[in-house]
Amino acid sequence: EEEPLPAELQVTKGDPFRKAFSVPVDRSEEIQNARMGLPVVGEEQKIMEAIYNNPTIVIWGATGSGKTTQLPQFLFESGFGTPDSPNPGLIGVTQPRRVAAVSMANRVAQELGQHSDKVSYQIRFESTTSKNTAIKFMTDGILIREIADDFALRKYSVIIIDEAHERSVNTDILIGMVSRIVDLRKSMSQEDPSVKPLKVIIMSATLRISDFTENRSLFRHGAPPLVQAEGRQYPVSVHFARRTHRDYVEEAFRKVSRGHRKLPPGGMLVFLTGQNEIRQLSKRLKQAFKPTQRVDTTQARVEFSANDAPLEAEDLELGGAEMDNAGFDDDSDFEITGLDEPEDDEGFDLGEEAMDSSTKVHVLPLYSQLPTKEQMKVFEPPPEGSRLIILATNVAETSLTIPGIKYVFDCGRAKEKQYDLLTGVQSFQVGWISKASANQRAGRAGRTGPGHCYRLYSSAVYEADFEEYTDPEILRTPIEGVVLQMKSMGLHNVINFPFPTPPSRQGLAKAEKLLKNLGALTADGQVTHIGRRLSTYPLSPRFGKMIYIGHQHGCMPYVIALVSALAVGDLFVAQNEVDPPKRAVKSKGPKDSEDDSDSSEDEKVYTNADRLEDTEREQRSKDYARVHRLLSKHDDTSDALKFLSAICAYAYASDGDAFCEQMFLRGKAFKEATQLRRQLTDIVRSNNPGLLGTYEARLPEPSAKQIKALKQIVTAGFIDHIAIRADLAPVPPDIPRAPRRAIDVPYLTLFRSRDRHSDDIAERAVFVHPSSILAKLSPKEMPQYIVYSHLQQSAASVVADQTPKIRMFPLVAPSGLQLAALAHGTPLI
Ligand code: ADP
Ligand code: MG
Repeated sequence: EEEPLPAELQVTKGDPFRKAFSVPVDRSEEIQNARMGLPVVGEEQKIMEAIYNNPTIVIWGATGSGKTTQLPQFLFESGFGTPDSPNPGLIGVTQPRRVAAVSMANRVAQELGQHSDKVSYQIRFESTTSKNTAIKFMTDGILIREIADDFALRKYSVIIIDEAHERSVNTDILIGMVSRIVDLRKSMSQEDPSVKPLKVIIMSATLRISDFTENRSLFRHGAPPLVQAEGRQYPVSVHFARRTHRDYVEEAFRKVSRGHRKLPPGGMLVFLTGQNEIRQLSKRLKQAFKPTQRVDTTQARVEFSANDAPLEAEDLELGGAEMDNAGFDDDSDFEITGLDEPEDDEGFDLGEEAMDSSTKVHVLPLYSQLPTKEQMKVFEPPPEGSRLIILATNVAETSLTIPGIKYVFDCGRAKEKQYDLLTGVQSFQVGWISKASANQRAGRAGRTGPGHCYRLYSSAVYEADFEEYTDPEILRTPIEGVVLQMKSMGLHNVINFPFPTPPSRQGLAKAEKLLKNLGALTADGQVTHIGRRLSTYPLSPRFGKMIYIGHQHGCMPYVIALVSALAVGDLFVAQNEVDPPKRAVKSKGPKDSEDDSDSSEDEKVYTNADRLEDTEREQRSKDYARVHRLLSKHDDTSDALKFLSAICAYAYASDGDAFCEQMFLRGKAFKEATQLRRQLTDIVRSNNPGLLGTYEARLPEPSAKQIKALKQIVTAGFIDHIAIRADLAPVPPDIPRAPRRAIDVPYLTLFRSRDRHSDDIAERAVFVHPSSILAKLSPKEMPQYIVYSHLQQSAASVVADQTPKIRMFPLVAPSGLQLAALAHGTPLI
């Protein structure tokens, strides 16, 4: 065995690549062989040389080329992270997603064999770090917090910023910060030789890196060199659809079903936009391909088997329908091409043997809300003789490599959070992905061998409607948290911060205004005592403010619970998941007049099983309503108090998961909210010992006075998110018709609405979201003031010329007196 060289033998000039210090690693033959096939491993020498000779480098390599798993190991083997080596500091690796931080740490530990205890991860609420840790995977948010504690990051010898192409706000800010930390560490090391310079490695899966490499303000001592890991990606044949269907979940079902029957063995990865779609498709695939029951021919009644009839029929129809329809789809939004594919080839005829037609499917979902244990299942081999089909959101686009994928089905869309800086309207729109993303998705099919990507859209749509790249997140999200964090770290002049892409002036101004309103900044933009306090919470400054004033009337334990619930969000299973709109099951009877998008080819026989399901659904729907009535018994105008009831009730449950199941709550969200509750309790305790007394998670019911105070505390955090009922506004606008339902009652906000000058009240106003408990009131009962958490515009309406309404998610309905008291700065009333 090779003995490690003494520490003095450092890299010398003229022989830049020399393993001055090496940590031998024994790997199993299997792991060793797998590594040998990775392009990044072939470039180890080139990469390490670049790292030794430069403070910062950028590595580009296609997804799956081995960046995330191998770079930390190269560094570890050359002594980084090992005590007594020239670079004893930790190897830090950041990821934009928690699931990637955990799974990559596990994989690297596995590859490092006898050193597996050297690899740890830290994500919010969970850390496996120990004194042995040499390689630490973490989310980018965790590292930003660590920078707040030690701006020089003395603990680390090297920072790897992974997935930089995703351009999350945190990644962008980290890159800006580490560019300064590199300078700082360099000058520190010149004064004190025991401090080592910091190395920074930025890794990207796309070549859109000019924002990092050519940004003069970012790396002042010259552009970092780009090291390319030649992709040894197998070829992927891309098959465009001839038509672009609007109902892409349905289309995915058809294509995947046909693909499964026609394609040779190999895993399938299907990209959809969200968990509802994933669940829907998963259910249908499992139903369609469940092992056929043997039909007993002696029996008169033959059970309907979902396995055959509908699919055969569909198969026949498809070919005909596609050819008939040479010009237009039912949806004229999209252009159709007939040029990409020969008429009856969908790209499934590969000239190879298809799988045995009885092959089972092993369908697994993959999305970020899924419990970690479930997520990890995608890495396990499927049961013998079955085909792995993974239904994923864009989590699977670049950060995770799933073994054995040969076929990719890409719907071409993603759910993107959009934020309108002017109106404050947020929307989760399902929109086209970028060309870069589409190519990443296709690339997932070519890791283990030649693969195929089936795009559920035409090449004309791809050419005309897909942007080259997606905008960086910093341009489409509120940034008050970022601004406060930077200011309290002493980076006062936010506008001069070396952002890879600077936020818009408008976004900055809006953030500063809110921070001033919350009392976190002085009029001239300096951080106040309050601001410094708010920045110690791992939360939006709005929630920080609520905690800051939460001690009044003994409300603190409730405020902590409420903030935890609000910050985690998405606590309840939505009504339409319990009772999906009728279109999922189609009857053969007369067509539902509201349902204009269905064509007859989708018709399905209404079975006994469907009928049974209907009764079940009715019952579930009733239970759902009952649960929500129960949770809002304290106050029937405050959604926030409903969240509080839920989180407090959860603390009393002996079996949390069972409780969530029964109460239509999301178990993962409640676990997280509970962890956040614990963390916030600790912070409040250490900021203010004695304030919480003998705090317990199981709280008594709040008094009437406390409920009133809680509403005012919520209002203080969302002071700029106040809506007034339009007909009770100081200058009421024209409202042509009396609204018939609560959700049609118009409200005006403090921000300019979409069209301030429009005569149409629907254009200027916002409306309560149907999920709010206010939606159950009569229009007359609707409160004068509503404090909302956010505004949302739903996806484009089916009827093209009708713009969807802007919906608000209410928190509380404060009284006019409460608002006046807040404006006046008097204590809670
Ligand atoms: P990159 O970061 O360049 O996208 P990775 O380092 O994540 O690439 O992956 C390199 C290779 O490691 C993948 O192609 C895959 O074969 C393998 N791999 C990664 N994670 C796992 C895992 N959990 N199980 C098995 N193989 C894995
Ligand atoms: Mg990676």
